[in-house]
Amino acid sequence: MTYETIMYGIKCNRCQAIYEDSEGANLAVDRHGDLEDSAQEDGWYVNGDRHYCPNCYTINENDEVVTKPLIDYYFFKFKNVLQMLTCRQYTFSETETLFVLKSNYCYKRLNEAQSLILRDIIPDFVVDYRTPERVKGKRYETETIRIPKDFKHK
Ligand SMILES: [Zn+2]
Repeated sequence: MTYETIMYGIKCNRCQAIYEDSEGANLAVDRHGDLEDSAQEDGWYVNGDRHYCPNCYTINENDEVVTKPLIDYYFFKFKNVLQMLTCRQYTFSETETLFVLKSNYCYKRLNEAQSLILRDIIPDFVVDYRTPERVKGKRYETETIRIPKDFKHK
């Protein structure tokens, strides 16, 4: 027989990364159980119902956790529309000054209409394409989109 059950996952409160344990599990029946424990073992910071991936906090000289500044909602709107337009998943990373979205299997570059839709959300982004070194001759490229952290939105 089949039955329905509620499962819980862990998502970073700042960058929305989803936690996956070493066996690839990202859902658990317990809201605060083994999955949360292994997230903590893997460097996630857990504070009640708030969870931060290892990239989204630092520890200061007094051994206190300092979470990085929240990311503007428009960034996630941009990322969601981008994923809908391209039907691809993008990984998120950041540098001192930039948010970076990267897709490793880009078969079709952003066209003008897609760019216009995206620039309507965040006008100021740069996109570049590279063919991965080891697979020259393959059709796909990596697509990297860089957005300044102090971006303006409409
Ligand atoms: Zn995060």
